[in-house]
Amino acid sequence: TTKATPDPPSGSVTIKGLTKTYGQATAVDGLDLEIRPGEFISLLGPSGCGKTTTLRMIAGFEKPDSGSIMIGGKDVVRLAPYQRDVNTVFQAYALFPHKSVAENVAYGLQQRKTPRAEIRERVVEALRMVRMLDFADRSPTQLSGGQQQRVALARALVNRPGVLLLDEPLGALDRQLREEMQLELKLLQSRLGITFVFVTHDQGEALAMSDRIAIMRAGRIEQLADADTVYNQPASAYVAGFVGQQNFLQGEVSADGTTVETPIVVVEGPAKPDGRPGEPHQAAIRPELISIEPGTVAEGLNTVAGEVLQVSPLGEVIQYLVKVTDETSLLIRRPAHGAVRLSPGDQVLCGWAAEDVRLFPLDTPPDPT
Ligand code: ATP
Repeated sequence: TTKATPDPPSGSVTIKGLTKTYGQATAVDGLDLEIRPGEFISLLGPSGCGKTTTLRMIAGFEKPDSGSIMIGGKDVVRLAPYQRDVNTVFQAYALFPHKSVAENVAYGLQQRKTPRAEIRERVVEALRMVRMLDFADRSPTQLSGGQQQRVALARALVNRPGVLLLDEPLGALDRQLREEMQLELKLLQSRLGITFVFVTHDQGEALAMSDRIAIMRAGRIEQLADADTVYNQPASAYVAGFVGQQNFLQGEVSADGTTVETPIVVVEGPAKPDGRPGEPHQAAIRPELISIEPGTVAEGLNTVAGEVLQVSPLGEVIQYLVKVTDETSLLIRRPAHGAVRLSPGDQVLCGWAAEDVRLFPLDTPPDPT
């Protein structure tokens, strides 16, 4: 007998209608997600939005109330963690302190009664991947945090999983090491072609590494797209506010339905606001897309006058805080090179291009469950 369809490639993950509740709390709420083989995907969102619960259900540590999970085309919901083509790396990597680095990496294979020669070969391969082969005989207690995390990674990679699940694996490292490891992880992942599902609440981390980012909110995915799209074409005010910094100006749709009138400025966007006249609406404008120059009288749309409150040189950019009313300030960032010199107290004009504005209906958070 011949198969009607070929096996889907390993490394794909297809999730449909995934739901998990704890008592009254819905941690994951009908989540759909399609992960491609070899993709680096991040689950990004604030604390409590369901990232870890989703990952634990893919891993098999948590049983869904409903929904399906396919890994490599195989329904895994009823399978134990070790029967799934996945491995997990946690933030607390819990290496055995009394075993050497190599023994730590070999442990799982030994449990599965893998032949000794094969274990040796695969441990060397895994340690080489994470550049820790020279440390094979050391105790984990003699390693730095970053080195320990690499060993934890090798311990997962030695199983050659189709999918690697990573739950804030860099969370315990200091900033510089974390940024180095981000680059390393991304390089390793693209070299190995293993699917990575990476949980983080750090948007910089997600932007730096991911092929695609799933922005989560209250147990669902609000937007799934590459970093550029998520940043420049956010699907909602929630995404616009969560990824990168943002100025929000609140107002309402104008009588002719073409602009948003806020107490300080009439904002024209790249298209008409999606709402009826008088409905609450908001404009989102990135700090780096606002111009600033000395001046006092604002004329026309998308221009506002204010007073410089704060000037912060951040290296390659200068950040300004500009007070436009008692309640509202704008955050502005300009390249330091060639910037006009401004000081607190200076009167300035700020403006932006209509195509750089994103208009959203006023966001109402989903009902707490
Ligand atoms: P964090 O970034 O803080 O880890 P998260 O996005 O990973 O957050 P989850 O840990 O998945 O969020 O939790 C989602 C929701 O489910 C939260 O409201 C949490 O309190 C709840 N929850 C998670 N695990 C349990 C549990 N074992 N028992 C009860 N409630 C839980």
